Amino acid sequence: MYKITVLPGDGIGPEVTAQATRVLAASGRRMGVEFCFREALIGGAAYDAAGHPLPEETLALCREGDAVLLGAVGGPKWDQLPVHLRPEVGALLPLRKKLGVYANLRPARVFPALAGASTLKPEVVSGLDILVVRELTGGLYFGEKKREDIPGGQRVTETLVYTTEEIRRVARRAFELAGKRRKKLTSVDKANVLESSRLWREVVTAMAVDYPDVAVNHMLVDNCAMQLVRNPRQFDVLLTENLFGDILSDQAAQLTGSLGMLPSASLGDGTALYEPIHGSAPDIAGRQLANPVAAILSGAMLLRYSCGLEEGAAAIENAVTAVLEQGYRTADIMEPGKRQVGTAEMGRLIAELV
Ligand code: ATP
Ligand code: MG
Repeated sequence: MYKITVLPGDGIGPEVTAQATRVLAASGRRMGVEFCFREALIGGAAYDAAGHPLPEETLALCREGDAVLLGAVGGPKWDQLPVHLRPEVGALLPLRKKLGVYANLRPARVFPALAGASTLKPEVVSGLDILVVRELTGGLYFGEKKREDIPGGQRVTETLVYTTEEIRRVARRAFELAGKRRKKLTSVDKANVLESSRLWREVVTAMAVDYPDVAVNHMLVDNCAMQLVRNPRQFDVLLTENLFGDILSDQAAQLTGSLGMLPSASLGDGTALYEPIHGSAPDIAGRQLANPVAAILSGAMLLRYSCGLEEGAAAIENAVTAVLEQGYRTADIMEPGKRQVGTAEMGRLIAELV
């Protein structure tokens, strides 16, 4: 039996996680595996109920489970709170840090049925299948932050810290993953300017010796941003540090044209965290308009990386592909001639096929 902590969160979070657990439960029945889902509060919902966006009980439940499935946090209702109580800063960053999930995996895939959804031409993106591996618990986002008054204004300091070991552990994940895919790893840095990037490049270069079947190249982040819109299919696995990865993974996601379709996994040495890449989408919350596929595919990643159930993961991914091929669409990916369905109906259709 696997214990899965479910954190529905805010906005469309509860709607999409409900469909992800429904699909996981169906997949479990099919495989003869039992999942025990335990819900806890996070984000604005937790602040409203308990006065803090990441209550201790939530953290404890996350730590003792086999995996965490998160919906989304945040919304305009909580934007005016002091920064440490805001859902993103007060819940998401500390949750990642406390679970020690240093490797963020974001696949950006173009589903054949949706090749027309990208803003790029179908001949540039069809078949696109990139995996961004972003370092998630170090770098600029977790460095020292300081603000001082100086004559004429203020002075801010942000520090960027990486150790060899922090780079090594995320790079190792990326090499392992590349070895199971098309065996191509592009490490992205800014080694012409940043010392941290020089260390990054040294560590990746040294590690490449251990993975002779993986072809490695190094690319400067500005060039990578350009290559992603010029010829994105040249990439298989993209490995990069926290800030660059934040930007490049959003860019790669947008190439697929469907925010509501893209999952993520954040892995460390303990309990892993799975969540759709989209936010809480307050503009469509509570109206059965949300696309649950990103959350459902996050569930597939959970089976793959936290339970070792590759077959179950593939079955969910195939079920998503099949339902799209049958012409079912949520509002965000609707096209003329297709059949529009709501959040729960989409979840039901996928659950039937896993
Ligand atoms: P955050 O800062 O939390 O990432 P955001 O405002 O940047 O939030 P989202 O909440 O992801 O971004 O929403 C961006 C837009 O995409 C919104 O208009 C929203 O309605 C739409 N959207 C996001 N997720 C989905 C989904 N699963 N299904 C349908 N539409 C979605
Ligand atoms: Mg956003």
